[in-house]
Amino acid sequence: MIPLTDTHCHLASHKFPAEELESLVANAREAGVTRLVTLGTSTDDCPRQIEIAKQFPGTVFACIGIHPCDVTETTDGWDEHLLCLIEQNPDQVVAIGETGLDYFHPAPEGWTDEAYHQRQRDLLRRHFEIAEQTGRNIVIHTRDRSGKQSLDDALEIARDFAGKVRPLFHCFLGPTENADPIFEIDGIVSFTGIASFKGKNAHDTRQAATHVPLDRIMVETDAPYLAPEPHRGKRNEPAFVRHTADAIAHLRGLTTDEIATATNLVADGFFRFPSTF
Ligand SMILES: [Zn+2]
Repeated sequence: MIPLTDTHCHLASHKFPAEELESLVANAREAGVTRLVTLGTSTDDCPRQIEIAKQFPGTVFACIGIHPCDVTETTDGWDEHLLCLIEQNPDQVVAIGETGLDYFHPAPEGWTDEAYHQRQRDLLRRHFEIAEQTGRNIVIHTRDRSGKQSLDDALEIARDFAGKVRPLFHCFLGPTENADPIFEIDGIVSFTGIASFKGKNAHDTRQAATHVPLDRIMVETDAPYLAPEPHRGKRNEPAFVRHTADAIAHLRGLTTDEIATATNLVADGFFRFPSTF
């Protein structure tokens, strides 16, 4: 069994009590998931991601950033804070994120949609600058109520950094052609458990997981959210990324080992995991 990398999870989530982390990582290893990337979403939880990475050296790696749904809670100086954390923990911080644009959730009390989305775009651009400055790539979340305005707007910012910072559009939902402008700037997409869902709503995601080039995809859980079949609706955990890899292998007529080999190669290139500990 070739090991897999869960390229996106949130191990600092309140749904994963600290005392459970050992068993979560052990479950993952048992399922042949030997590398986990845990992502920060706020100034508060970024240091925690690094602590967890230090607790599991060579297995857990951290990304730090401000989630678009957290931008209004974020005060000036957040960028200096991130830069400091990267400088102090160069072996743990393998990319910048989770950042991005979320036009799905309504603006918080006291904010217009316009001001809220502009604040998200401003912070996304600043994350790109931090990524460029620190020689790292960037993990992006986009979400709309309908259409793909958040993807288009994120791409517009990403294009200004093309050739310098590679964007990973996580939890890619399809359809396949939405990935074309991402690939034009050397970007990557990653698939969650949604690629394992059978219903009509997941059609575009299954189609994309079947057809986008193998050298541009990764697999992820987004745990504790989005558990793949057969755990759909339950709390997700890194071990379950294997079900997503199985589902994509099945869609493409390949073995899970072939998916593991291909997606690990992409993950290595993107995160450039430090190899010595
Ligand atoms: Zn996430």
